[in-house]
Amino acid sequence: MIEAQSLTRRYGDFLAVDRISFSVNEGEIVGILGPNGAGKTTTIRMITGFLPPTSGRVTVAGRDIVENSMVARRELGYLPENVALYTEMRVQEYLIYRARLFGIKGAEARQRMSEALERCLLTDVREQIIGTLSKGYRQRVGLAAAILHRPKVLVLDEPTIGLDPKQIVAIRDLIRGLAKESTLLLSTHILPEVELLCDRVMIIDRGQIVAEGTPDALQESWVGNPVVRIELETPSADAAARFAGIAGVVDVRPDAERPARLEIECESGRDVRAEIFRAAVEGSLTLLELKEAKASLEDVFVRLTTTEEARLGAAAEPAAIEPQGEEVPS
Ligand code: ATP
Repeated sequence: MIEAQSLTRRYGDFLAVDRISFSVNEGEIVGILGPNGAGKTTTIRMITGFLPPTSGRVTVAGRDIVENSMVARRELGYLPENVALYTEMRVQEYLIYRARLFGIKGAEARQRMSEALERCLLTDVREQIIGTLSKGYRQRVGLAAAILHRPKVLVLDEPTIGLDPKQIVAIRDLIRGLAKESTLLLSTHILPEVELLCDRVMIIDRGQIVAEGTPDALQESWVGNPVVRIELETPSADAAARFAGIAGVVDVRPDAERPARLEIECESGRDVRAEIFRAAVEGSLTLLELKEAKASLEDVFVRLTTTEEARLGAAAEPAAIEPQGEEVPS
């Protein structure tokens, strides 16, 4: 449904997206995950035709987004990071207006509007002026506008950014519902979002894809040393030294806030749980918990991506260049 080939974008001398290639298959929910400044928004803006790539090519449902822009965009619903709404308009008035932009008029436009209002749980606020809605509701209006023309592909840029936890849950439910009918590409830097919503994830860092796969496969691909977490009944001053003496243990790290909890890192391929248990008994230490810790998606993410501090230390941010293409409704 989406094919990106060697997609590249420069802002002046700065390479924001560097030869990214990927595809999103019909019916999939794919997440683009990356730290701030990784190039997620730039990638999404190129895919949606709002920013021309410096080089490379994107097709949506087989149509080139640059050469065949109008046709390709009909297959695409896009919710930008900062959704531009006409705040002085009422919700239904705005949706009718957006429908007209797609050439949908009269009874058909009203039908599509009602459908979108219902799906995005906006029926109760249909008469309300957009400027008086909460951020969560405005986000829903943006989503309703994005699905009016029944696109085959939905592209959502940070759909839950700036929302409170309750609104986040509501928007995620909504996205899950929309995903039943559309192929979905969403960008986020929120890890649970990816785990909860996506079939597949691409981790982007410094403009390149550094890992790709299902959330489970990425966790399994973790190549760090195995870790065992234990909790003692009471903190013990000599516990760390006792466990560090076990053959195969690389490091013992007590939890700074809860010193009765320790993280025991072992050599790759070693299972030292039995030895830990025996060492605890020999030292008269009561174990409340002993378990092998699985790598989380967060571990994978942190290992593969650069922190913003490191990035800013390595290279100064580029001077802002006015992007081409508008994100207001066109
Ligand atoms: P965030 O999660 O913070 O939104 P992102 O992954 O979406 O980040 P982008 O917005 O795509 O990242 O930005 C990628 C890089 O390109 C950043 O270093 C950013 O400063 C730079 N950049 C983005 N837009 C411009 C522009 N118009 N002019 C110059 N540099 C830009």
